[in-house]
Amino acid sequence: MTNKFMYFVANWKMFGDLKGLNSLNDVIKFAMKNKRKNFKVIYCPPSTLIFPLFKKFKNTPIDLGGQNSHESENYGPYTGSINSKMLMDVGAKYLILGHSENRQSGENDRLINLKIKSALKIGLKIIFCIGETLKEKQNNKTNQILSNQIKIGLNGIKNKSKIIIAYEPVWSIGTGLIPKLSDLNSLILFIKKKFKNKSQKILYGGSVNENNINQLKTINSVDGFLVGAASQDAKKFIDIIKKTFN
Ligand code: PEP
Repeated sequence: MTNKFMYFVANWKMFGDLKGLNSLNDVIKFAMKNKRKNFKVIYCPPSTLIFPLFKKFKNTPIDLGGQNSHESENYGPYTGSINSKMLMDVGAKYLILGHSENRQSGENDRLINLKIKSALKIGLKIIFCIGETLKEKQNNKTNQILSNQIKIGLNGIKNKSKIIIAYEPVWSIGTGLIPKLSDLNSLILFIKKKFKNKSQKILYGGSVNENNINQLKTINSVDGFLVGAASQDAKKFIDIIKKTFN
């Protein structure tokens, strides 16, 4: 049982459509009933669903976020891209950046740094994903990888109060595998030490579900969870939140 303030971020990835949004009525009911509890729910759906969800979540405590953005805060000739200003315009308050699925398709730390700076300038809060691959873990490179991702990703950003870190080991995303709890606790503490602000928020992400949450919630250092697959099922997502506080 925890009294700590916790974040629950739903990353829907490239899933979801208009007709499926009614499934969120239960989440809204749950969030309204527990309005004064110490947690924040943030939905990061595909960009096409941000505005419909913005209308649906009006007058509820649920916030919205984007899943990625272009690094330019200005409009421009970038076919297929969306920038932070556009995300904010349709109701996003948060933005996931540095997700490993985007790193795997070519984003590097420098580009992520530009995206973070641009989104901060516009006024979004950032959920900055970091994490090592299986190979890097096996080669004992985890600490070095995390240090570099933080150093380059946050280069030149003095005020980090609008940044939430999401530690997501790449080998854990979508695989059903989670780190050993003691390793996870040490890594979160290792990340926290990199920040002057000792209350820097660090989330864990990677195969969080309604079954393993009872183990994961025992990690004192964690400030919440970034949930992929399980967040697409309203019942499972509510279960994850309920179990965290039980
Ligand atoms: C994610 O994509 O950020 C994630 C944590 O996915 P999953 O929960 O499905 O592993």
